[in-house]
Amino acid sequence: MRYEALKESYKRKALEIEESQKRSDLFAKNVFNDGKMLQFLTKEAYDKVKSAIFSGNKIDRKIANQVAEGMKAWAMSMGATHYTHWFQPLTGATAEKHDAFFDLLPNGSGMEKFDGSQLVQQEPDASSFPSGGIRNTFEARGYTAWDPTSPAFVYKTTLCIPTIFVSYTGEALDNKAPLLRALHAVDEAATGVAQYFDKNVRKVYATLGWEQEYFLVDKALAQSRPDILMTGRTLVGNSAAKGQQLDDHYFGVIPSRALSFMSALEKQCMILGIPVKTRHNEVAPNQFELAPVYEEANLSVDHNLLLMDVMDEIANAHGFKVLFHEKPFAGINGSGKHNNWSLATDTGVNLLSPGSTPMKNLQFLTFFINTIKAVDTYEELLRSSIASASNDHRLGANEAPPAILSIFIGEQLGNVLDELEGVSKGKLSPQEKTELKLNVVGKIPEILLDNTDRNRTSPFAFTGNKFEMRGVGAKMNCAKPMTVLNTIVAKQLTDFKKEVDALIDKKSLKKDEAVFNVLREYIKTSKRIRFDGDGYSFEWQEEARKRKLSNNKNTPEAIQVLTSKESIALFDATKVMSEKELVAHQEVELDNYVFHIQIEGRILNELVYNYVFPATVKYQNGLLENIAGLKEVYGAAHKGLTEPQLNILEKMAEHLVSAKKMSDAMMDAKRQADKKATIAKKAQAYCNNVKPYFEQIREHVDVLESLVSDELWPLTKYRELLFVK
Ligand code: ADP
Ligand code: MG
Repeated sequence: MRYEALKESYKRKALEIEESQKRSDLFAKNVFNDGKMLQFLTKEAYDKVKSAIFSGNKIDRKIANQVAEGMKAWAMSMGATHYTHWFQPLTGATAEKHDAFFDLLPNGSGMEKFDGSQLVQQEPDASSFPSGGIRNTFEARGYTAWDPTSPAFVYKTTLCIPTIFVSYTGEALDNKAPLLRALHAVDEAATGVAQYFDKNVRKVYATLGWEQEYFLVDKALAQSRPDILMTGRTLVGNSAAKGQQLDDHYFGVIPSRALSFMSALEKQCMILGIPVKTRHNEVAPNQFELAPVYEEANLSVDHNLLLMDVMDEIANAHGFKVLFHEKPFAGINGSGKHNNWSLATDTGVNLLSPGSTPMKNLQFLTFFINTIKAVDTYEELLRSSIASASNDHRLGANEAPPAILSIFIGEQLGNVLDELEGVSKGKLSPQEKTELKLNVVGKIPEILLDNTDRNRTSPFAFTGNKFEMRGVGAKMNCAKPMTVLNTIVAKQLTDFKKEVDALIDKKSLKKDEAVFNVLREYIKTSKRIRFDGDGYSFEWQEEARKRKLSNNKNTPEAIQVLTSKESIALFDATKVMSEKELVAHQEVELDNYVFHIQIEGRILNELVYNYVFPATVKYQNGLLENIAGLKEVYGAAHKGLTEPQLNILEKMAEHLVSAKKMSDAMMDAKRQADKKATIAKKAQAYCNNVKPYFEQIREHVDVLESLVSDELWPLTKYRELLFVK
């Protein structure tokens, strides 16, 4: 009966929504969520989908047909004419291939058709998607397969079905398949541990709340710059007289044009079920941030990807271009995408939030300390998950956060861990237990209430009831860091449970004693990852080196660890990725890196030759003509008059010669790099031999920009690009 009652209430709600204009009523209007499923699916299909979402059970063909029928009916009622499998190839973006709900009948007439087989599986012509050698283009193709845990939605006139993308032999060709496996692994491991504290827990979800930073630039101006158009960032450009020095942008009044873009964006997000909540200006001019209410991690990842697509579209309609690049402007803060992460049970408990009883707090400490331990063990791997050519401008460059992973937990929690570390080994005396429960574990909630000393320089900070991973790039698919984080925590929790169970069985310790014992050891052995000081300081680099923490400053270096013996063992034990997949994914990452630097090099060379050179020469000619004229009129007396012109001419010549020389040398280095036999060597060559020229070329070009007449300078300047009104 519950089903019928629910169905009725959703029907009523749907009617009310039709008539209402309220934002919250628009929420998920275009999403095939629980309410829509109740209306459009049979009870049998509804139950099967729900159980597939909860326990990962397979959906058979008969049910898939029923679901497809219901989904089609709903989508068509929303005006959809096409459907697409929506997936996340390793390029980092999303991909789709639209097919019409249309089929020909044998008698030649047309009909609307979409059945279970089309819902469950599709074969995109995917030979051009990167596969790192897994899928030889001629032998095997890849296929997309429905992910029922992320609801289908209608975007414009297309029903979009979130899918994974795998090869015929089952290897992941995308970012979603490994993520789903990691989420499954962490669910299993964390549920086992959570049951120490509450037997009713049946499932643990990873939660993710991202904060998306971005820049808005006028569309026409952005289009006038080949570098922005082709690489997403400015490769040259003299700093504007006013940058972010005044800090007057942060939380300031949002410019009206940007505000109308944001309103439209938020409305569309609501309709698509993306629960956006906050918006504000960021530190840099033209930089903004948008954050949703957190969600289950897989859904949250999908929503972030969808959001980026929607932002592109809406910005376009509002005369803007959105820049997601991690460092679009030199000298101005870059953009990141903080990933707030936690674990939540199906009983509604945030496992990283302390509770009202000592047992709840012990549960909190268990998950808290295990996360710290996991990050300590796999710091280099976690760092690798946020490596990309564009994010290299932030991590390890002159920008937040550092490339060294460390965890900030604050002084008070640090003290709690210190006290726990002092607890004696083995069985605890009754006094010790009471003391521990009342004065250490019991005090945690009060401590956290005033735990406001957040450290903004930390790449992985505990912020009261979640960890915040700050190094994720603005452009990046969060699936990558979320896959690694959930995998390492899964592995850690599995190890933890084994150790605790062994102490209970073999040493006959009580459960809480066993937990304390293992946690105490973890606190001891994971100290090096804890750092509350200034993550940007030189001293920290030195200290981190002593602590043997990795400090990989560029992508080719950072992603080597993906195929280390330890990583292969980790991903194998958790069944998240096979060695073959790791090798392939690493290769794709390296490929992406090379493409990226290749394009930047070409565009920079083009800017020097086709923009900077002609403009400078034209200005030089003007000056030369002027000097000749002055000579003619003033004869010998011209000297005093032409000196400034000559001086500028000389300076220009000097920088033009250098810019061209370096550009030529860069192109030479590029040709050499292209000859390297392996993709790893090629990526290294691009990183070490090609990329270093970029900054040097830029310096000369930027001086030329400051010398050449504004009228003749062909590239839109920083002050015109920034400062949207
Ligand atoms: P700040 O900018 O100070 O870091 P915000 O309020 O902008 O903080 O962002 C906090 C983010 O953390 C939001 O996206 C929110 O949804 C997310 N968040 C809050 N609680 C959790 C949780 N339990 N799990 C995951 N994310 C969370
Ligand atoms: Mg944040």
